[in-house]
Amino acid sequence: MRPAWLEVSLDALAHNFHLLKEKANGAQVIGVVKANAYGHGAVEIGKELLRLGAWGLAVATPQEARALREAGVVGRILLLGSLHPEQAQAVAELELIPSISTLQSAEALNALGKPIPVHLEFDTGLGRSGFPVEEAHLVRERFAQYENLLIQGIYSHFADAEENARWTEEQIERFMEVRRAFGPGYFYHLCNTAGTLGFGGCGLSAVRPGIGLYGLLPGWGLRPIARLLAKPTQVRKLPAGYRIGYGGLYTTQVEEWIATLPVGYADGIPRLVFNRATVRYRPPGSAEPLACPVVGRVSMDQITVRLPEAVGLDQVFEVATADHDPTSSLWGWAELTGTVSYEPAVRLSPRLARVYLRGGVEVARVG
Ligand SMILES: *Cc1c(COP(=O)(O)O)cnc(C)c1O
Repeated sequence: MRPAWLEVSLDALAHNFHLLKEKANGAQVIGVVKANAYGHGAVEIGKELLRLGAWGLAVATPQEARALREAGVVGRILLLGSLHPEQAQAVAELELIPSISTLQSAEALNALGKPIPVHLEFDTGLGRSGFPVEEAHLVRERFAQYENLLIQGIYSHFADAEENARWTEEQIERFMEVRRAFGPGYFYHLCNTAGTLGFGGCGLSAVRPGIGLYGLLPGWGLRPIARLLAKPTQVRKLPAGYRIGYGGLYTTQVEEWIATLPVGYADGIPRLVFNRATVRYRPPGSAEPLACPVVGRVSMDQITVRLPEAVGLDQVFEVATADHDPTSSLWGWAELTGTVSYEPAVRLSPRLARVYLRGGVEVARVG
């Protein structure tokens, strides 16, 4: 096995799932596992979410759904995003629940001549996809004519639930207008993670958390579920004045211990965190982990870190920690590079093996 891997805690996933479900006042949870479960591995995460009692899973593309079906997932799979009419066939074949926000896609699905449950999406203020709220009555009448489409759910998506409470409340109000137009008997859902935490799931049938399941949001008691781990492939004592890495962006000041870790930007470490990120390790016999700076450029496949002392090649380093540390976590990498934690998470490369732990014991390994 390559001495670099992603360790995923199914216990932390369960903790986050239960915390979000409680925040949503017990509403159903649609586990969002698009983009390979935000980099954590959709098959194992998806199966675990269903075991935990999720109503179903949500993905962004039919290809993502196919990977789940081929791995034996038989539960409900909601296909997010505005369905393109050309995707109708795949929806039927994979037995997906599509999101419908145009009449063209509805007609393409209806024409397949097979009953299909659908969720209608309304645009309450994200401005990305969905039927207009003002047309709710019209949409309802139109769908009564599609003999093969069974409206199972109705949903919308927030633009800014973490930052802008006023706009979010406006979106909730517009969604309630849609609900009044359709009445009871449908599966209504609106809240992403931020909406679930900040607005209690809005009292609807279900919530659709993604990022919260993976714990990549500080401040709510959520736990990051993954650590990126690596063992050094070389540990050297270098003299003062030694240039390290592409472009010579770091030069040793004194005699320094430098370790090379076999992970780089092709594994998902942002290239821009050089000389700012840290990695951690626990020296033998020490209770406290030590933070070590990443020195010099992040290469495609390797990084170099400065150590206080020599370590053996068996020493495990936490390249990404399972917390919200500003320099050593996925969340911290996002802060350092001006983005959101979603991005470093989804960029965790498939070439890293994913090792799944339950109760500290390995229960599955992918890659
Ligand atoms: C990605 C996505 C979610 C999950 O959002 P988080 O912010 O990760 O919780 C929910 N609903 C839709 C429609 C999405 O596209």
